[in-house]
Amino acid sequence: MTPFSSSGPVVGSDTQGIRPTAPSAPQSMTLFSASGPVVGSETSGFRPAPPVAPSTNIPEASSFRPAPPARFNDPSVPSPPTSYVPPTIGPFSRFPTPQFPSTQPPPRTPPAGQPPFQPFAGQVPPPLVPLRPQQQKPSVPMGPPPQNVNYAPSMNVPQPPSDSSFSAPRSNFQPSFPGYVHQQPLVDSQAPPVQSPFVAKQGPTPFQTPVSSPFVAQPGSYVPSQPVATSLGFQSRDHLQHPGSGLGAIQGLVEDFNSLSVGSIPGSIEPGVDLKALPRPLDGDVEPKFLADMYPMNCNPRFLRLTTSGIPSSQSLASRWHLPLGAVVCPLAEAPDGEEVPVINFASTGIIRCRRCRTYVNPYITFTDAGRKWRCNLCALLNDVPGEYFAHLDGTGRRIDLDQRPELTQGSVEFVAPTEYMVRPPMPPLYFFLIDVSTSAVRSGMIEVVAKTIRSCLDKLPGFPRTQIGFATFDSTLHFYNLKSSLNQPQMMVVADLDDIFVPLPDDLLVNLSESRSVAETFLDNLPSMFQDNLNVESAFGPALKASLMLMSQLGGKLLIFQNTLPSLGVGRLKLRGDDLRVYGTDKEHALRLPEDPFYKQMAAEFTKFQIGVNIYAFSDKYTDIASLGTLAKYTGGQVYYYPGFQSAIHGEKLRHELARDLTRETAWEAVMRIRCGKGVRFTSYHGNFMLRSTDLLALPAVDCDKAFAMQLSLEEALLTTQTVYFQVALLYTASCGERRIRVHTAAAPVVSDLGDMFRQADTGAIVTLLSRLAIEKTLSSKLEDARNTLQLRIIKALKDYRNLYSVQHRLGGRIIYPESLKFLLLYGLALSKSTPLRGGYADAALDERCAAGFTMMALPVKKLLKLLYPNLIRLDEYLLKKSTHDDLESVEKRLPLAAASLDSRGLYIYDDGFRFVIWFGRALSPDIAINLLGPDCAAELSKVTLIERDNVMSRKLMKIIKKFRESDPSYYQLCQLVRQGEQPREGFLLLTNLVEDPMGGTSGYVEWILQIQRQVQQNP
Ligand SMILES: [Zn+2]
Repeated sequence: MTPFSSSGPVVGSDTQGIRPTAPSAPQSMTLFSASGPVVGSETSGFRPAPPVAPSTNIPEASSFRPAPPARFNDPSVPSPPTSYVPPTIGPFSRFPTPQFPSTQPPPRTPPAGQPPFQPFAGQVPPPLVPLRPQQQKPSVPMGPPPQNVNYAPSMNVPQPPSDSSFSAPRSNFQPSFPGYVHQQPLVDSQAPPVQSPFVAKQGPTPFQTPVSSPFVAQPGSYVPSQPVATSLGFQSRDHLQHPGSGLGAIQGLVEDFNSLSVGSIPGSIEPGVDLKALPRPLDGDVEPKFLADMYPMNCNPRFLRLTTSGIPSSQSLASRWHLPLGAVVCPLAEAPDGEEVPVINFASTGIIRCRRCRTYVNPYITFTDAGRKWRCNLCALLNDVPGEYFAHLDGTGRRIDLDQRPELTQGSVEFVAPTEYMVRPPMPPLYFFLIDVSTSAVRSGMIEVVAKTIRSCLDKLPGFPRTQIGFATFDSTLHFYNLKSSLNQPQMMVVADLDDIFVPLPDDLLVNLSESRSVAETFLDNLPSMFQDNLNVESAFGPALKASLMLMSQLGGKLLIFQNTLPSLGVGRLKLRGDDLRVYGTDKEHALRLPEDPFYKQMAAEFTKFQIGVNIYAFSDKYTDIASLGTLAKYTGGQVYYYPGFQSAIHGEKLRHELARDLTRETAWEAVMRIRCGKGVRFTSYHGNFMLRSTDLLALPAVDCDKAFAMQLSLEEALLTTQTVYFQVALLYTASCGERRIRVHTAAAPVVSDLGDMFRQADTGAIVTLLSRLAIEKTLSSKLEDARNTLQLRIIKALKDYRNLYSVQHRLGGRIIYPESLKFLLLYGLALSKSTPLRGGYADAALDERCAAGFTMMALPVKKLLKLLYPNLIRLDEYLLKKSTHDDLESVEKRLPLAAASLDSRGLYIYDDGFRFVIWFGRALSPDIAINLLGPDCAAELSKVTLIERDNVMSRKLMKIIKKFRESDPSYYQLCQLVRQGEQPREGFLLLTNLVEDPMGGTSGYVEWILQIQRQVQQNP
């Protein structure tokens, strides 16, 4: 089976092998024990222990290549500078007060989109064919059992408000899914045909002319819904009075808020909203400028964004905010050229930090006593200035050397960490690849793409010449590869005993890449053919994981897993789930979205402990239990890449690009992150992919520019006495070059005593990011419907309190009012509740797809998340027809509302959510364009057509646009999917279900959503 000469031993269970010490759980492993306080609002299996080392900025690891049990609590580790240990009040005193008053549970209504069960093609859950009989063999765990049952890591699920009583009225909609109301082009009717502000109550609206013919109902296919019964009368009085405002906004002297008229016709309950006047984020994410203007030395918002930069001065004020109060941090966000974070080496001086709270020196500290003392901006302690760091002050009290001190003028700096920040030499970048070679993996073509991509990236892996590399493959057995540099070609060793796993020749399986380069290349060249005739259908995934842990535990690093077959053998085997329809809509539903076997959480905790970050690449066309597998990535700071039904001919390019980015992007190794804040406030919960170590230290074995973390803030004291609150993010990590560094981002924000100021300074992007994470976490403990309702309720409560600010002085009537800063919140809220992790019910997203999207969204930075929620829809045909010779690519950047009404059947459109492109060919598109772009394929079924560059101007122009879009958004690779208008069901699942402004299969459209919210906001109390 292998072309490799078997000069090496084939090691079976009966063969003598070298058994390295298994990284069995050391007794001293209190890091994940249940002895610590429960932090914040987490409902936590994993309860963090008190910090182990005095300074938890020291990575919890001991010397280089230590005996594993000594790694985490090694008393020989030099004691770091004393740390600020947060005062331990009773652990439960920090619980935020419940956001919402408790009310009666709602009457049970079936989740939207659930009945009737009408899966439609493409979104159909995998065929419910049992893969194979379950192995009856009892699982034999390796090593000692977990030391305690609460070992499982925290899900960081916030305590759900006891109130989830708001049930969204949906009565106006047919429950069939997805209902699609064909609409007249909105773009062509920019001057809307408003015959009267009061359009007939019933029947089609100017934008909702039902055209039923192209979407004839078919079983399991697109079912057109009835026209929306709600009148969309054009009733924005503000808009009429201020035609230039576009949003019906009155700003400035008269009113301090934006509003939309929701008029009601006398004697009728039919309200109306002007569809065209609704606010839409057509410029994408726009970061608020307020904070940067007020505090120009703050770090760039790409690194840190607050949900509102107006920090409430009191708990009572905070309780009226209702939206999440907190921050989104992307510590390694990519900066444009010229804006790189400066690296500072204090050398023998040591890094200047506050003696008490361990804050790093930053632009907001102040110098006194002729420059001999500095005052900490977080805790106000007066610190001595070390002799080497002394500088005289000028007449205004500023140091005279400021122009040479970026740490005193810039919000983001990186300090080179001296040896006291290490407890072992910085690790080398290490990549270990674990590849499924079962028959389905072979058939998909995945192995070849993976092998070729890795080979092509060998020169670009960070950390030359220290980089380490290794490979293992598995089906029903495990295969290791000796890559020792003295060999001509690799030797394969097979381990067949899955119950007592051991790793043969551990020293030669993980090797220095530059030394063993030719052996590694030979291996990668041969890998695809080695297994091309493999008929093995089994997957010993769990045992393979255990073996990987053993191999990597000495150094840590990145484990990249390529997985195709549902784990079927040995520990961690999984079974088909999610095919029992009766579970949906019950309180057992959420369990499907959680890992089935505690093995996966336990393994994730082990990986994190040994500084191993896990990325999962999953390829199966069948159910593969992403809920369980993704757990490995979630708790190790990793990422889930999901390519359902992978075929190399179709998805190969996407895999190639995304794997290459994963391998070559700058990575921070063995990292920990903490965010500090000033007195009186405190971060109480954290949301994203990481494991919490101690109360506030995020363990991130490997982290990169594509990862963001969110956290919620609470007031510790009833009243804040300061004018400003400071935040400081510190990421301690090992750079690929081997240098230990601390990246520090500092920001200041004003304390406000007025709810209006909190709203004025709100950041919708940060709010939506936090709301997304909270909602996704909620789906892990509740029904989807409850998660959506909780989200909706928060928005309603916030708008209600906002309205109360103005209801006394102003006659608000039927208007819905909101601050300018939150004008897109309603739409993003709607989009979020229609996003893959939250949408509908059983039939609306395959379980694996839902879970994969959840893992992905939990890690996304703000901009990427907002684009996924409200993607770009851009018309292209006019640009392609233009004769202009010079590049005016900007002219194609005009984004359109995400509604079917935006689609003109004479047009060509691109839909771009950052993960894929959909190119939509209108039915009446000029044949000239189609022929130029598709050549002879233009009459073919578009699902089988690949877009390639053809020898004509139009095609080159299109490919240029696509290239530009891809380059502007490189985290993922966007494959082009082509679809023709009316081509069902593809048009439905590729595009129409994602037009979030349209009502769809029992979910609200934008107008209906606004009306629902408005009704609730106006209800008393
Ligand atoms: Zn301090």
